[in-house]
Amino acid sequence: AAEEGFDVEDVEGAIEEAGHGPLPVLAVVGRPNVGKSTLVNRIIGRREAVVEDKPGVTRDRVTYEAEWAGRRFKVVDTGGWEQDVLGIDASVAAQAEYAIETADAVVFVVDSTVGVTDTDQAVVRLLRKANKPVVLCANKVDGPSGEADATALWSLGIGEPHPVSSLHGRGTGDMLDAVIEALPEAPPQTFGTAVGGPRRIALIGRPNVGKSSLLNKVANEDRVVVNELAGTTRDPVDELIELGGVTWKFVDTAGIRKRVHLQQGADYYASLRTAAAVEKAEVAVILIDSSESISIQDQRIVTMAVEAGRAIVVAYNKWDTLDEERRYYLEREIETELAQIAWAPRVNVSARTGRHMEKLVPAIETAIAGWETRVPTGRLNAFLGELVASHPHPVRGGKQPRILFGTQAGTKPPRFVLFASGFIEHGYRRYVERRLREEFGFEGTPIHISVRVRE
Ligand code: GDP
Ligand code: GDP
Repeated sequence: AAEEGFDVEDVEGAIEEAGHGPLPVLAVVGRPNVGKSTLVNRIIGRREAVVEDKPGVTRDRVTYEAEWAGRRFKVVDTGGWEQDVLGIDASVAAQAEYAIETADAVVFVVDSTVGVTDTDQAVVRLLRKANKPVVLCANKVDGPSGEADATALWSLGIGEPHPVSSLHGRGTGDMLDAVIEALPEAPPQTFGTAVGGPRRIALIGRPNVGKSSLLNKVANEDRVVVNELAGTTRDPVDELIELGGVTWKFVDTAGIRKRVHLQQGADYYASLRTAAAVEKAEVAVILIDSSESISIQDQRIVTMAVEAGRAIVVAYNKWDTLDEERRYYLEREIETELAQIAWAPRVNVSARTGRHMEKLVPAIETAIAGWETRVPTGRLNAFLGELVASHPHPVRGGKQPRILFGTQAGTKPPRFVLFASGFIEHGYRRYVERRLREEFGFEGTPIHISVRVRE
């Protein structure tokens, strides 16, 4: 590394950063209008004002990456919840439920200019039950005169209120220090530590694609061990199901089986549940209803799983309904709409007839193998050397940036760091990814490539 102009420490730092495992998750909960979204925007350092005084604005995304004091974590914005749809109490209860299931720590936001309400009290009861670390944010303390209002929140009995103005940034640093203290170093469910434990599968897809039908099919036909692992509710949250002689853990099946009868807001609820399930899983089996056009909602779900870095299998369900014509259009749609996961193993199934159910497990195993692939550094550099020689980066401004060497910093999913002599263009990065896939497989897994440029 040294002779290529990189400092050894820089290289090691880059590898460590790129190779990080799953990040701890912080959920921000509280009543509507207390300033959750404003706070989340401040935590993730987004500049534009995303907060709109428009009821009914639903957001596509609920999970963001953030960093404070050198620690990285994920933050979940529950601010998109529509109070009109669920009712205030139901909506905060659902948020708290999410926090219970998924988050490693919770920021509970209270509007200190309003003071403690009954709804706030109800949230406190739920959070107590959840038994997760809670940081109390006394929001809307825009100046020193608001400090007394913050102090009054000691009465909630969940510890020190941190006076914050999410709008102006006042006090957020101190609160984030407390958050970092509350977050575990790595999530307790670190991948790989559960050696020999069942693999975790999230069955995801938009409403009515057939998730619960598929789950029932695999559960019934293969003589299941259904058992209850969740502590807090009577619904089993995770189910152990034996398939192909192997026991798998289907996570968050309560979310699949529970029927939420909502007109609007159901999409948001569904996407929160999806995010929760994906967070807990190693493999996402994405169900697509092949009898209908592939929608933006399908694509969002795909993006969620890709961004979370999970092994991915795509199951085209309701295959029994297809005629020639639909089948023709479906293939075209897959090519154009699902190009971002062209590398994922595919199964064409019917939860109704049981068609091709036996192909599901091999597809999942393929995806896991891709997800865990590690390329030895020697092989990787031999490959990169050949690639650079046979297909060099285009010359820009009289210079030709070159990839000098690279290493795989982590797996689950595979993460690579490439060290280069100059800025590597997006198109060339894509080319490198394509070639990496051709050479080493990586079927069923996203791969991350970061590039370090020599100073
Ligand atoms: P959410 O529903 O909990 O996500 O709340 P929002 O983030 O949408 O904020 C609700 C309203 O409170 C918006 O008009 C914000 O501009 C305002 N707000 C949020 N944080 C603060 C703050 O620290 N001080 C003041 N004065 N207003 C705030
Ligand atoms: P979920 O909302 O994703 O859990 O979807 P459900 O499992 O509730 O299924 C939605 C509807 O699609 C139900 O009426 C199912 O009977 C139907 N369905 C599910 N899988 C299939 C399938 O493979 N073929 C056909 N024809 N219908 C299916």
